[in-house]
Amino acid sequence: HKTAPAVEKAATVEFRGLRRAFGTTVALDGLDLTARPGELLALLGPSGCGKTTALRMLAGFEHPDSGEVLVDGEDVTRVPAHRRDAGMVFQSYSLFPHLSALDNVAFGLRMRKVRTAERRTRAAELLDLVGLADKGERFPHQLSGGQQQRIALARALALRPRVLLLDEPLSALDAKVRLSLREEIRGLQQELGITTLFVTHDQEEALSMADRVAVMRSGRLEQCAAPAELYGRPATAFVAEFVGTMSRIPGRLEATTVEVLGQRLPIDGDAPDAREVDVLVRPEAVRVEADEAGDARLVASAFLGAATRVTVRLADGTEVKADLPTHEAATIGPGAAVTVRLPERPVLVAERAH
Ligand code: ATP
Repeated sequence: HKTAPAVEKAATVEFRGLRRAFGTTVALDGLDLTARPGELLALLGPSGCGKTTALRMLAGFEHPDSGEVLVDGEDVTRVPAHRRDAGMVFQSYSLFPHLSALDNVAFGLRMRKVRTAERRTRAAELLDLVGLADKGERFPHQLSGGQQQRIALARALALRPRVLLLDEPLSALDAKVRLSLREEIRGLQQELGITTLFVTHDQEEALSMADRVAVMRSGRLEQCAAPAELYGRPATAFVAEFVGTMSRIPGRLEATTVEVLGQRLPIDGDAPDAREVDVLVRPEAVRVEADEAGDARLVASAFLGAATRVTVRLADGTEVKADLPTHEAATIGPGAAVTVRLPERPVLVAERAH
């Protein structure tokens, strides 16, 4: 497709102390978050944590009880939605069923009284941008889900918004279309350089597409960081367990080390009191070896391709997941006695779960 016209100046978006309650439900409980110019920022978190409410506040569909929304330093909290300059794409394609693809894309331009000829030219360019130049005359019911979502994206971009807001845009699509649209949206976003907020509850989607991921919990920000940092250095046990797979192994914390699985490993920092803790480890950081004298048992394995994820039950009943090279896993049968080792420092040491 044609090269997209880049946005003139990418916007900074700031949420400051956003609070919003619906009756007794607190949807946002003091959300502070900044999206940097031109980045794709994913809002990730469990259902009900306030992701959609935050996005709707940026669009102007929802208003905070207190706190502010700033775009390029300008307070837009009380600016009505139609003057916000935000393009939004929803989970359900929400195209106008009685309008052709081209007219759907041109709709906002018509509302803004852009002249017919210019409207059609611009809508055609946008259809081309999302790879659907030849589908302009089709109606939504004549298009696949993925195509409808690309039309919705073109429609959102038609007014050259300062920010692009995507609310679970891929959730309704099947796995294969979802994967190709991920790349397409990301490619287009980078090409345009448009500041984008992307709401998802799918951690893989967030990690694979975003420049930074904001993990939310109960209406607040838990951590905002680049995907690799979030995965490798989660700030809290909640982030550690929400992003990627994590096993908890009982251990004992003492000063600068933790004793776990009969090993003593260094940790970051220094614990004031010795105590029982849980050690959080990623499957790729766990070594499992067949060992007749071992007191752990292999209880399950799942083929993932080059790696196989095995589940091992320790003598105390704790289950630990480990990724083994598939050729290695093939030599260890179900029920086999194994030993488990942690060659690296743990990702996190957390309070003991009950
Ligand atoms: P999901 O992933 O399920 O969409 P979310 O993180 O986007 O969740 P929100 O939709 O922002 O969460 O909702 C946060 C909380 O506020 C939820 O408990 C929700 O039920 C509640 N809520 C949101 N909008 C309204 C409303 N208009 N009226 C009443 N309660 C609402």
